[in-house]
Amino acid sequence: MRYSKVWLPFFHKVLLSGLLLCSACASAPKNELNLQGVTFAKRPKNIIFLIGDGMAGAQVSAHIYWSGVGTTVFEQFPVVGFQKSHASDYLVTDSAAGATAFACGQKTKVGAIGVLPPDERPCKTILEELDGQGLATGMVTTCTATHATPASYISHLELRALTEEIAAEYLKTSFDCLIAGGETQFNQRYDKINLIDTLKSRGYVIRRGPGLRNLPLDGSRPFVNFTHEMEPPTASGGRTYLPPATKIACNFLQKRSDKGFFLMVEGSQIDWACHTNDKSWLKAEMADFDKAIREALRFAVENGETLVVVTGDHECGGLALVAQGNSRKYFTPVFSTRVHSATMVPVYAFGPGAELFSGTYENTDIYVKMREALGR
Ligand code: MG
Ligand code: ZN
Repeated sequence: MRYSKVWLPFFHKVLLSGLLLCSACASAPKNELNLQGVTFAKRPKNIIFLIGDGMAGAQVSAHIYWSGVGTTVFEQFPVVGFQKSHASDYLVTDSAAGATAFACGQKTKVGAIGVLPPDERPCKTILEELDGQGLATGMVTTCTATHATPASYISHLELRALTEEIAAEYLKTSFDCLIAGGETQFNQRYDKINLIDTLKSRGYVIRRGPGLRNLPLDGSRPFVNFTHEMEPPTASGGRTYLPPATKIACNFLQKRSDKGFFLMVEGSQIDWACHTNDKSWLKAEMADFDKAIREALRFAVENGETLVVVTGDHECGGLALVAQGNSRKYFTPVFSTRVHSATMVPVYAFGPGAELFSGTYENTDIYVKMREALGR
């Protein structure tokens, strides 16, 4: 049988792509984190919840193919589910309604922070509830402390844009640690109130800069580390504090309470990279978020009483991985919008209670499942 000239280049391509794939396998770094066969307690004492803002399946897929198949942290999780991200009023949500769903277990309107429709009644967040029960609580983000995602855990306002009001709400909950940007919303305010002085008077250690230096790591005092006065820089622009901050926060919170802790960690700028349709920025943010998740998992593996849950609040950019030119060997990330989309978001879980997170459910069920796992 003779192959036509049309088919010969096709076979050549298959052979070549096979060789390329094999060489990629051989050179790919081994995934040093092994979550198989780890034993842990029946119930978690601690929860580490990591939110990739704007991160859905396409962002994770791009990260996997950029990094090399089998090398990312996402491929290590034993339990994966899907959540539906829609808000109470719109199919396409935002980070305020998205994070409020996680924090309060209820759908709210786009733009609302820790309040519910129809009358903007405040809802108690899981961070506030657990703080009230004597657990240690903290947040680590790569945005300002008053940005929608962290704000939804600690404040109750009808509009995410009320950033100075959000800053003031930090004084209503006795959280244990905060590592984020946005110092100016605490000490250079229109109302001239210096919230940093108030935090100090309540015993908080206040530190500045992304170096995370001189923190009370023995757990003796609560702290706020403002990494930057305004928004932190991008991961591609040299920001590296998220992974070490995650590790520091886990170890610190463990020392703050015998009852356990709740830590929210946000890879905030995955969303901003996708709004800008900037693939290099996205690549760097995903790599950085991957490292932060690894720090959480390393702590969980060693600790044995920690549930780690990773998800995004919504997709952003309508990202598709399309074949590059005529070749199917490589992909080109193509954005179809500069705003969010309604695609479902994967949920990754590890540790005691992780099995609750398999299946397809509402974003609000993340809160319900966390409460169920804790037995609280
Ligand atoms: Mg956010
Ligand atoms: Zn966004």
